[in-house]
Amino acid sequence: MHLFTNTKKAIQISNSFWDVTTQAGLANIVSRNLNDGVHEALATGKSFLNMSSYSYLGLDSHPDILRAAADAVLETGSLNTSISRIRVQFDILQRAEQALAELVEADVLTTPSCAAAAAASLPLLASGALTDDVAPLMVFDKNAHFCLNMMKPICADEAEVATIRHNDLDALEDLCKSRPRVAYVADGVYSTGGQAPVKELLQLQDKYGLFLFFDEAHGFSTLGRHGRGLVLEEMGAINDRTLIVTSLNKGFGASGGAIFLGPRHNLHRHNLATRFGGPITWSQRINTAGLGAIIASAAIHRSDALPRLQNRLQDNVRYFDELIDSESRGDGLPIRFISIGSEDNTIVFAKSLLEQGFYTSPIFFPVIAKGRAGLRIMIRANMQHEDIRRFAASLNQLKADHE
Ligand SMILES: *Cc1c(COP(=O)(O)O)cnc(C)c1O
Repeated sequence: MHLFTNTKKAIQISNSFWDVTTQAGLANIVSRNLNDGVHEALATGKSFLNMSSYSYLGLDSHPDILRAAADAVLETGSLNTSISRIRVQFDILQRAEQALAELVEADVLTTPSCAAAAAASLPLLASGALTDDVAPLMVFDKNAHFCLNMMKPICADEAEVATIRHNDLDALEDLCKSRPRVAYVADGVYSTGGQAPVKELLQLQDKYGLFLFFDEAHGFSTLGRHGRGLVLEEMGAINDRTLIVTSLNKGFGASGGAIFLGPRHNLHRHNLATRFGGPITWSQRINTAGLGAIIASAAIHRSDALPRLQNRLQDNVRYFDELIDSESRGDGLPIRFISIGSEDNTIVFAKSLLEQGFYTSPIFFPVIAKGRAGLRIMIRANMQHEDIRRFAASLNQLKADHE
C-alpha cells in the first residue's frame, strides 16, 4: 500500500491549513464577475482583483468567445449528445477539434478537462500502445502535476513506474541507457514556477528514442506561435514519440482539456484513444457551449490579436519582476511563487492583501514542502501597470513589516 499515493496522510497534514484558510475568508468566496479579473464578493460587497487567475491572456471574458458559446448551444439545440462520441457525435465536436488541430499542427482530441486528458492517455502510454507494443519504464518528474501523479498506481499495473528528482536529466539519461523503452512524464511549465528543460529532453529523445509526455496547462496559449506552447515552440512540429495534454480553461479562455496525440492523420492512434481512452469513451465531453468557445478562441489564436496579448503579458511579467522579488524572477513565465515560509504568516499576508483589494492563493503542503508555504501569483495580459504597482507596494510593505 501507499507506493504512489497516500490520501489519508495528505488529509492529516493539510486539512487544518484549509480550515485556517477558510476561516480567514480566503476560500469559498462567492462572487459576481465584474470582468478583467475583478470580482465582487457577495458576502462583503467588496470588490477585489484576482491575482491568482489562470486566465493569462484575459480571454475568459472575451466577447467573441462568450457570444460563440451561447450561439453554439442554441444552434445545436442541445448541450450534449448523451452517448459516447465513438457512437454518435455532433459535427461541432469535429469542427472544434479541427480548429485546434490546425492551430497546433497535431492530431487533437478534446476531453472534459486536462485531468481527464491525463486519465485517458497515460494508461495508453503505459500499456505500450504508443511504443511499439512494449510497455515503457514510466519515469515521472517529482514535481509533475497532481493529475499526472495520481495516475501512477494505474500505470504501475501496466508498466514499471519510477519517480526522479525535479528536472534531473542525468538520472533520466541513466535510465534511458539501461532500458529499451522509457517514457518521461513532466509539466512543460510547472504550476509553482519553472519549466522543463525541453531542448535537453529532445536531445535524449533523439539519442535514445525517449517518449515525452508533457502537461502544457500553463504553456499553451501563453507561449509560442499561435499560442502552441513551450514544448511545440521548441520542437517546431510534434513527432510520434511525443504526447501533450493541456487545459483549455486557462490561457485559452474556453473550457475542457485536450490531447495532442502526435502528427495528424494517424488513424490507428486516434482510434486507440477514442476506443480505449477511459473518460473519452464515456458519455461526457465538452458541451456545445465549450466547443463553440473553442472555435472562437482558436480563431483569436490564429489572428494578430494573439501576439499582442502575449506581448502585453510579457510586458506585465517584466514590470512585476522589476517591483517584486521571487525565485522565478526573469524567466518570462507568468507564474510567480512568493515564498513566505510558515503557513500562519502566509495566511496573514493573504488576508491583509485581500483587505487591500487583492486576492492571492495561499499554497501549502502537499502542493509545496512543509514549512515552505507562500502565495501563488499569476500575471495576466489584462492587468494594468497601476494595479501591479499598488499590489507590489502592499506586498513589499507586508514583507518589510515581517522582517
Ligand atoms: C490546472 C492544471 C491541470 C488541470 O487542468 P484541468 O483542466 O482543470 O483538469 C493540469 N495540469 C496542470 C499543470 C495544471 O496547472
